[in-house]
Amino acid sequence: MILDCAIIGGGPAGLTAGLYTTRGGLENVTMFEKGMPGGQITASSEIENYPGVTGEITGMDLMMPWPDQCKKFGLKHEMVEVKYVSKEEDIFTIHLSDGSTQQAHSVIVATGSSPRRAGFAGEDEFFGRGVSTCATCDGFFYKGKEVAVIGGGDTALEEALYLAKICSKVYLVHRRDTFRAAPNTIKRVQNTPNIELILNSTPEEVYGDTMGVTGLKVKDTQGNIKDIAVPGVFVFVGNNINNETLKQEDGSFLCELNEQGQVVVDINMKTSVAGLFAAGDIRLNAPKQVVCAAGDGAVAALQAIAYVDELLHS
Ligand code: FAD
Ligand code: NAP
Repeated sequence: MILDCAIIGGGPAGLTAGLYTTRGGLENVTMFEKGMPGGQITASSEIENYPGVTGEITGMDLMMPWPDQCKKFGLKHEMVEVKYVSKEEDIFTIHLSDGSTQQAHSVIVATGSSPRRAGFAGEDEFFGRGVSTCATCDGFFYKGKEVAVIGGGDTALEEALYLAKICSKVYLVHRRDTFRAAPNTIKRVQNTPNIELILNSTPEEVYGDTMGVTGLKVKDTQGNIKDIAVPGVFVFVGNNINNETLKQEDGSFLCELNEQGQVVVDINMKTSVAGLFAAGDIRLNAPKQVVCAAGDGAVAALQAIAYVDELLHS
């Protein structure tokens, strides 16, 4: 059997694509998700910027009903890792980690991204309990408090500026004395009175108690340790785009990516390959928000329906 659509990844983008493809009339749709559906937001202890959802809610709570809603309209879920996707003529082949394959007329890739960890002591232990990789998501929890930001790229400096509007003070910790960020962004950071630069320094350890983070120790290049008493530490040391499923056996990629590894799409989530769509954090300039990933999934699904309809019925 050839699937009408294969969806790779079961985060907000993949699940929304599953809902719209099945409810929109595609007969055979399978979502391949290597773990439990829900995506990276299930690691968040609180989400308060998903429209219409008020009150205290965890990322897990938010995502819990999504798979059942999709199942109601016929979405099949296979809990298996996709190794890669290839295409010959009009047929895509999904190569699975158990060695089997599945064919499909269209594919929506929604494998997301993973914020890189810096690798200091306590970072993993306190992740979601004071250590964060999302200022838009978690910054508000530190309103009027002091926080630390780690990194020296555009993301770290832009997020430091965002946090400086909410928090009383932002310590920007960077391992060198020059930044990678755009010159204008650097100037804005330097001109923001409540951002203190801690340069030539790397985080040694984040520490805390059962309630969460209480401080961060940083070490400078001379070996001096500085103790910063902050309840929040934001880590922005780059992002890994989960694009491995697009890598072919010869090392090339199935569709066009930009230099950061993001999938190049148009406004309809179409990639450079007919019938292949990308949605959510994996795509070009993604805002990395649940609501945006879900929106992308819906757009990609509507396009996949139109593509399959034309392919099979014209
Ligand atoms: P993901 O959520 O990353 O889902 C991708 C899925 O694909 C995963 O389930 C993964 O297991 C699966 N997958 C990957 N590779 C394969 C493969 N080879 N085979 C099969 N399956 C695969 N956003 C907000 O809007 N508000 C917030 O408050 C907020 N808080 C956040 C807090 C944290 C701690 C983090 C990490 C992120 C937060 N975000 C928040 C961002 C939000 O989670 C992401 O923007 C969103 O989840 C992206 O959705 P996605 O579907 O594109 O990808
Ligand atoms: P990035 O440019 O790769 O910067 C990562 C930063 O983290 C660097 O300053 C790096 O230090 C530091 N770092 C890396 N590993 C570390 C570790 N283990 N411990 C401590 N520090 C560590 O990542 P990004 O800022 O996320 O940006 C990614 C890309 O998106 C870039 O091309 C960026 O220009 C682009 N972007 C653009 C915009 C915009 O145009 N407005 C906004 C955001 C992102 P070093 O500098 O010493 O290597």
